Amino acid sequence: MAVIPLQARCANCGAEELLSRIAEDDGSCPFCQSSFCDGDGFLFLRDVLRADIAYRLLIRSLRDLSAPRIRLRVLPEPLFLGLAAGVPWSEGTDLPSAVRSYLSLSTQTDGVHTDPRTDRTEEVAP
Ligand SMILES: [Zn+2]
Repeated sequence: MAVIPLQARCANCGAEELLSRIAEDDGSCPFCQSSFCDGDGFLFLRDVLRADIAYRLLIRSLRDLSAPRIRLRVLPEPLFLGLAAGVPWSEGTDLPSAVRSYLSLSTQTDGVHTDPRTDRTEEVAP
């Protein structure tokens, strides 16, 4: 089963690139050569690589948990909505409309996210 690779869009020129390729480069856009971040480029590249690896590990782990021998089913909705609510997406990010509606119903204050369907809250790791 293939993994859809994570991609990002350059804020300067709008070009899209795979995170795995960005992590292997020097921290600048391969299309317009502008730097992707101010400050410590090492930390930026570390975070890009970490996000890409974490994404692949999450998919692999969820696949393993979907094996017939496992009598547990991870619920998809909290996973997808958790990603949407747990990331401070940039202004203008084109989130799916269902996610936008959900987020407008939920509250997020001081790192605490409340799920309006269940009133469950959870601390968001810094
Ligand atoms: Zn660019």
